[in-house]
Amino acid sequence: MQKKEFGLGDIVEMKKPHPCGTNAWKIIRMGADIRMKCTGCEHSVLLPRSRFEKRLKRILVSAAQERAERE
Ligand SMILES: [Zn+2]
Repeated sequence: MQKKEFGLGDIVEMKKPHPCGTNAWKIIRMGADIRMKCTGCEHSVLLPRSRFEKRLKRILVSAAQERAERE
C-alpha cells in the first residue's frame, strides 16, 4: 500500500464524508492528534493520528506542493 504523506494545511478527502455533505477537510493542527476542519461547514474535529490515517482516503491539495510551485 502506498504511504500517505500529509502535512499542515493540506486538504484531504476522508473515507466517509461529513454529515453536511462535504468531503474535503483542511488539516489545521498536526501532532499526536490531528485537528482538521470541514471546508463546507467549518466544523473542526480532533482525531488521534492512527485513526486519522485509517480514515484518510486521499490528499486533494498538498500545501507543501503548492508552496513549492509558487517559488
Ligand atoms: Zn461539514
